[in-house]
Amino acid sequence: MDFDFNGLPKQDIDAINSMLPKDHKKNFVFENWSKTFTCAPKLYLAPHNENQIIWIVNFAREHGLNLKAIGSKLSPSDIACTDGIMITMENFKRVLHVDHVHSRITVEAGLTLHELHEILTFWGLSFSSIGSVSEQTISGAISTAVHGTGINYGCFSSIVKDLCIIDGLGRRHYCSSVANKDLFDAARCSLGALGIITQLTLQCEPSFRLKAVQVPKKLDDILDNLSSTLASAEHVRFWWFPYTDDTVLWKANRTIEPKNPLKESFLTDKLYGFHYYQFQLFLSRMAPNRIPAITKEHYKNRFNKKIEWVDDSHKVFNFDCLFPQYVDEWAIPIENTAPVLRYLRKWINEEHAKKDGVRVHFPVEVRFVQEDDVWLSPCYKQAICYIGVIMYRPYHLPVPYKKYWKAYEDIVRSFGGRPHWAKAHQMYYDDFAEQIPKFGEFQALRNACDPNNIFLNDYLKRHIVPPGIANSKAISAKADTLTSYQISKL
Ligand SMILES: Cc1cc2nc3c(=O)[nH]c(=O)nc-3n(C[C@H](O)[C@H](O)[C@H](O)COP(=O)(O)OP(=O)(O)OC[C@H]3O[C@@H](n4cnc5c(N)ncnc54)[C@H](O)[C@@H]3O)c2cc1C
Repeated sequence: MDFDFNGLPKQDIDAINSMLPKDHKKNFVFENWSKTFTCAPKLYLAPHNENQIIWIVNFAREHGLNLKAIGSKLSPSDIACTDGIMITMENFKRVLHVDHVHSRITVEAGLTLHELHEILTFWGLSFSSIGSVSEQTISGAISTAVHGTGINYGCFSSIVKDLCIIDGLGRRHYCSSVANKDLFDAARCSLGALGIITQLTLQCEPSFRLKAVQVPKKLDDILDNLSSTLASAEHVRFWWFPYTDDTVLWKANRTIEPKNPLKESFLTDKLYGFHYYQFQLFLSRMAPNRIPAITKEHYKNRFNKKIEWVDDSHKVFNFDCLFPQYVDEWAIPIENTAPVLRYLRKWINEEHAKKDGVRVHFPVEVRFVQEDDVWLSPCYKQAICYIGVIMYRPYHLPVPYKKYWKAYEDIVRSFGGRPHWAKAHQMYYDDFAEQIPKFGEFQALRNACDPNNIFLNDYLKRHIVPPGIANSKAISAKADTLTSYQISKL
């Protein structure tokens, strides 16, 4: 629904019109990548500079509207949703500084990782570790502690060296490990709750190639030898195929070997691995008992062989995540990896033994991340194993997943688990208050940065803020001096 313009002064209408996004259309509806969450913001704006963001913040406060910055809409939850003002950072794409001595780059917050790979390659730099895809923006990635894999490599929040954020009072803050340190430690993973991040400096390393080796391996072999497996390469992850004891173990190391890219076969990877698999999952909505056989068939035909390739690092880290999906991913202390996976296997097998039991899709993805010092990062002061479970949505159609999620979450929670912030989950304020050492400090900073609660949305109300605040609306505050001041600066 578009905002009701009736009664707005002309200068406000002009300001709004100057910030309409490239793809502006009436009645804009936000939809995340998986098409699992939608919302209808009253206004959808694309500011071009920090002064315009400050104007929007003050406008939101004056009118008692909530405000949300979005990245690439990839989060598989409603974390990016709002019924107030939504802003896209699509005009924040400049490179501001390159520091060759320390391999750092300062950029605006709206660049996607794909765009950054190109920019970094140009400057002879690379990210040290990235996740499965590169469509997300750098600000979305740090706001939710996006991670790749490697016990000596941290999540995106941990590579931020400094950042600028505009808070809920329209104040611009610069922070780093020496300036505004508390804000820095909180803002590096702040779920959009503290303000709008406009620019940031990222620690990179000189460009490198990776050599990846992917081999079939039995799940118990990996779990019985986890420490040595994790130490055997710089980056290690594995995918377990439910209903089997089979996994694919993926290891990657920096190399100076020449490129030898992964050869995709149209027949095996696209036609069979994507289209036919999606069709099989579509049919299995009517016959879920077929799922275990589908899993075994795909493992045998596509994954039961060793492959090796060498390519630019980001091309090796990324892979095809196929089609829309429900995902649930939790972080557990690394030492709990084996018991969690064994309990999960037990539960899946017990369900399999029941005629009408739950049937789950492959794979279960397992990754490892170094500890950091970011307040809300799941890796705060502890090395983490991330375990992700998936249920695909063939042709965007729904499939049952809630019983699977409930069983999985019960298991991970009993082993000290915490959800990936970007994913839908069932942990709430009291749970986090008990589990996150710096949760109280984060709340205090949130109160200071956003006393009018304009950055709250349903996700933050449900999971992050105390129940008293969660029931309140954005507080309208007349900011008469600020409005005219900011408009003059647009
Ligand atoms: C196919 C797929 C694969 C994925 N693979 C991985 C993976 O390997 N590893 C992993 O950890 N995650 C993964 N994810 C999750 C995804 O990377 C995260 O959801 C990421 O946050 C999305 O970034 P985005 O730019 O789309 O942000 P959005 O989803 O648009 O927003 C996410 C949050 O960031 C906030 N935000 C965005 N920009 C700003 C800003 N400028 N200032 C303040 N707040 C801001 C938003 O308000 C929101 O709270 C995957 C998701 C999908 C769909």
